Amino acid sequence: MHELSLIASLFEILEEKARDERAKKIVLVKLKVGKLAGAVPEFLETAFNIYKDGTIAREAILEIEEVPLKIRCRKCQAIAERDDFVFVCPACGSTDLETLEGTELLLEKMDLEV
Ligand SMILES: [Zn+2]
Repeated sequence: MHELSLIASLFEILEEKARDERAKKIVLVKLKVGKLAGAVPEFLETAFNIYKDGTIAREAILEIEEVPLKIRCRKCQAIAERDDFVFVCPACGSTDLETLEGTELLLEKMDLEV
């Protein structure tokens, strides 16, 4: 499961930050997951819950915000959001598109208890 390795690297960041802040525990973790990030939110959540056992984040709640795919047409410069994976400009029908958002997996926020 790809999500497990993503969560493993996430935990390295979380634990380092928590150490820096001298936190007792992590209470909330918020992730921003792009539609094209290659991670399924449900799997991320499962992986998170498996992984958090015995860590500083064992009581943490995971929140996931899904980021839609945002594209820009190189031909007519139109910007559009897409929920599906149809890579066609809605304005002119061109397939020469650039991805602006939707490929990222970001740690948006974490709440600590010090
Ligand atoms: Zn276009």
